[in-house]
Formats: sequence, C-alpha cells, structure tokens
Amino acid sequence: MLTEEERRENKRVAQRKWKARNREKASAYDRERYRMHASIRERMKARSSRWVQNNLERHAETSRVNRKRRYDSDPRYREAICKAARDFRKANPEKVKAQAAFNYQVRIGKIVRPIKCSICGDGGRIESYHHKGYAREHWFDVQWVCTRCHKRIRGGVN
Ligand SMILES: [Zn+2]
Repeated sequence: MLTEEERRENKRVAQRKWKARNREKASAYDRERYRMHASIRERMKARSSRWVQNNLERHAETSRVNRKRRYDSDPRYREAICKAARDFRKANPEKVKAQAAFNYQVRIGKIVRPIKCSICGDGGRIESYHHKGYAREHWFDVQWVCTRCHKRIRGGVN
C-alpha cells in the first residue's frame, strides 16, 4: 500500500510527464484556468513577482532572450523597436555619442570591463554608468556597476 504522500508524489510525477508530452494542451488548459479564476490569477502573479524579486539577474537575462526571439520573428514588434530606437537617438544625441565612443574603446580592448560592481562588489553583469553625464570630457569617465546598483542610482530609470 502507498501512503497518501507517495500517492500524491506519483500523481505529480504523472502530471509532469503528461505535461511534457502534451505541451500545447497543457498550456491551453493552464491559460483557461488562469482566465477563469481570479484566485489562481492572484496566486500566480504573486508567485511570479516573488520569483522575479529573488532572481533579478536571471529575469533580466530571460527577458533579453525573449525580446531577441520576438524581435527576430515578429515584424511589427521589430518595427516598433526600431522606431523607438530612432526616436531615442533623436532625443538623446549626446548620450548616444558618448556610449558609442565608450563602447568602441571597450570593444577594441583599450578599456577593460571589471568583473565586480564598484559599489556593492557583486559579480554578474557589469554595466557602465556615465555618472558625470555625457559631455565629451566625460565620455570615458564611467562608474562600473551591477544591474541592480545601476537601477538604484538612476532611480529605477534606465
Ligand atoms: Zn552593485
């Protein structure tokens, strides 16, 4: 005889296997449940924002990958992104120039990206922050910071 706990575990395993074999059906089913039940929606949203808070870097990486995939496959999305980039370049010519000049120096190896954040000392993705602005004399004067510190010191604006 199986215990209650073993029975539940067997059921979970079977469900997981079924989901793996019937991905389309399973996600249609999940979507329907999500749509129909406010309580399920709330629980899933809460779980997902908890996960994001605890996995900021992985979330950022996954989002990058997903955006790239959509950019490659969805022409309307691609056009919207390109338009936003054009608008941004038009509205921020100083910033674009500074970043281009700086990134070029990084690419040719004249400036080396450190592996640790200069504020908190964490590793991971390290970004350059033009902390004195984008005037020509400050083009190469950056602070190297992790994604989290970058967000924080820029007040959540990126
Ligand atoms: Zn940091």
